[in-house]
Amino acid sequence: AASSETRSIKAMDALSAHRITSGQVVIDLQTAVKELVENSLDAGATSIEVRFKDHGLDSIEVIDNGTGIASADYDVVALKHHTSKLSSFEDLSSVTTFGFRGEALASLCALSGSVTIATATASTAPVGTILELDRLGRVSSRNGKLARQKGTTVTISGIFKPLPVRRKEFERNAKREFGKALNLLNAYALVPCSHENGGVRLVVSNQLNGQVHVHGSAHSRRSVQLRTDGCTSLSASISTLWGPKTLENLVELDLAFEVETEKSVLRRQNAGTTETYATVVVRGMISKFTLNCGRSTSDRQFLFINGRPCSLTKVQKAFNEIYRTFNAAQAPFVAANFTLPNGSHDINVSPDKRTIFIHSEDNLVQTLKVKAKR
Ligand code: ADP
Ligand code: MG
Repeated sequence: AASSETRSIKAMDALSAHRITSGQVVIDLQTAVKELVENSLDAGATSIEVRFKDHGLDSIEVIDNGTGIASADYDVVALKHHTSKLSSFEDLSSVTTFGFRGEALASLCALSGSVTIATATASTAPVGTILELDRLGRVSSRNGKLARQKGTTVTISGIFKPLPVRRKEFERNAKREFGKALNLLNAYALVPCSHENGGVRLVVSNQLNGQVHVHGSAHSRRSVQLRTDGCTSLSASISTLWGPKTLENLVELDLAFEVETEKSVLRRQNAGTTETYATVVVRGMISKFTLNCGRSTSDRQFLFINGRPCSLTKVQKAFNEIYRTFNAAQAPFVAANFTLPNGSHDINVSPDKRTIFIHSEDNLVQTLKVKAKR
């Protein structure tokens, strides 16, 4: 009797399954951009250009001058769980990059109309190779050549087209989504300043569909949204991005404190070593407490761990609370980099990698509050 019944639970086909899990890695325009820019930084780029077409609806292109991709890696570059940044789970506590799961390119392939990579390494430049990838991240063509200096260009066209509902949503909210992506890119424009190794040049532009006619010939309108020359200090970057007026309203933030780490607690229990604390350094700028700078929004709050933008909800809340005790009317501008020593935090991240959970976050927030009261 059992054999005459048809089974109702069936295995999903590989592409559908891949598309669904990818939708959790790249949830919106902002996460797509974050993944691509992180890849460029991980590749040691000192210059990154982000080109949107039609607010990203048409395409998103990230051009860098990083190491490029070696030809031996072409076939696996966009395969799920293939990464050059981590080879075993144990490495997780020591990685310094935020790319380590090998999911971003694979997910973007599954979620886009098309993904193309143009890349050249120091040994192939000035000749670059064009890789066309299919939905499963496999290389469908590697025959294209172009003139290219060392570095990589990733072009994502028709993002979310394979997910019609999400695509519709993106089309409806394209300008707002673009605004969020720009705000994230502002954070990256501040990054170099929290790094010792100087500045990354960042240029962000958007080209609107439809052409303008100049002297009888058609030109598309590409407008620069953001440009930094790789400033060497945080204050210089803030001034470049928002003008010297903004800078006048800020004071420097410079804190160092000890937090107990879970790892050190374990170590103490096991081996009885004295090393139970880790030093956390917080550097950046925050609105003057007494000042009415007329803004009360959270869109100018930028937090970094070891120079990488991330959202730390509890820490952000703590900054707002501390600030409110001085100035009830508004939330502050904050740009703060947390330098955490290796092993004091694990990079436990939400699937979209926007929220980072640190072992000692509660501890850190408490210490921050106590420090601020002094
Ligand atoms: P992950 O960053 O987690 O390793 P990704 O899917 O983002 O995974 O990228 C896969 C691999 O492709 C990376 O590990 C890296 O080797 C290579 N890669 C991606 N983008 C770039 C780039 N802009 N420059 C050089 N290599 C890149
Ligand atoms: Mg990555």
